Amino acid sequence: MDKWKKLRKDLFRAVEPEIKLVAISQPVGEYKDLCTPETLPAFTARASHESKGTKEDDIRLNKTLIELGHDTPLQSVQFVLYFSGVTKSLQAQWTRHKIGVGWTFRSTRYVPASQNYFVYNTYDYIDEEEKVKELLKIDEEIAKKAIELFDRKIALGSTKQDGRKIMPVFWSTSCYFYVNARALRHLFKLRLDKAAEWEIRRMASILYDICMEWTPSLFENLKELRGKSGF
Ligand SMILES: Cc1cc2nc3c(=O)[nH]c(=O)nc-3n(C[C@H](O)[C@H](O)[C@H](O)COP(=O)(O)OP(=O)(O)OC[C@H]3O[C@@H](n4cnc5c(N)ncnc54)[C@H](O)[C@@H]3O)c2cc1C
Repeated sequence: MDKWKKLRKDLFRAVEPEIKLVAISQPVGEYKDLCTPETLPAFTARASHESKGTKEDDIRLNKTLIELGHDTPLQSVQFVLYFSGVTKSLQAQWTRHKIGVGWTFRSTRYVPASQNYFVYNTYDYIDEEEKVKELLKIDEEIAKKAIELFDRKIALGSTKQDGRKIMPVFWSTSCYFYVNARALRHLFKLRLDKAAEWEIRRMASILYDICMEWTPSLFENLKELRGKSGF
């Protein structure tokens, strides 16, 4: 998938999505020896039976909890991630998620929109390169025009918040995202699915891969969905 990526790189102020893990819940003090960020769900869930196990046991127990739908302990793992190269259109879909999630977005009331970048479409459902180039040219024209008009509005005395309203929805933004593992699993189920819009599906795919690096037992049963996401 994303077979036309090379056509996007030299477009006007083109940017691609990027996600960085900033922080993840860490056991502290005496708990440092007893659990890891990944084993926190099972370790804390053991309170129900007053049972004990090794970290390896807890990795196995994580998977059992997920199979059984005992999801609350997954809230023990909190992630902080930095996202760049996501569109305003994606922001509108993403912020519909309400439970166990939060954001701090770059504000264009304060940051001038003339510094904006743009996230161009993949158009990977189109097979003819010439057609894709033509489509991207249209998008690029709009991006250039929007920046030019924004600067003109500001020069005429418009505030930044009124100036930005002419921006196309594919302008790029950045944010910090705060989310727990339970909410992430819910997001993956909805947004890795083929039914989801392509940009949020691409974002979910990148995010999934990061989560798998750090806490695989919490997400590995969604691997098949990730495989079919197209990214
Ligand atoms: C493929 C796809 C297409 C979509 N199309 C559209 C569309 O055309 N138009 C549109 O407006 N939206 C659309 N959405 C957004 C969708 O309706 C949800 O708002 C979004 O996916 C967030 O899901 P959620 O409410 O489950 O998540 P969260 O808000 O994070 O909620 C998580 C879970 O908590 C529970 N919960 C949350 N709030 C409540 C509540 N108030 N009462 C009881 N239980 C609650 C539910 O079990 C919910 O699943 C679409 C989403 C997808 C994935």
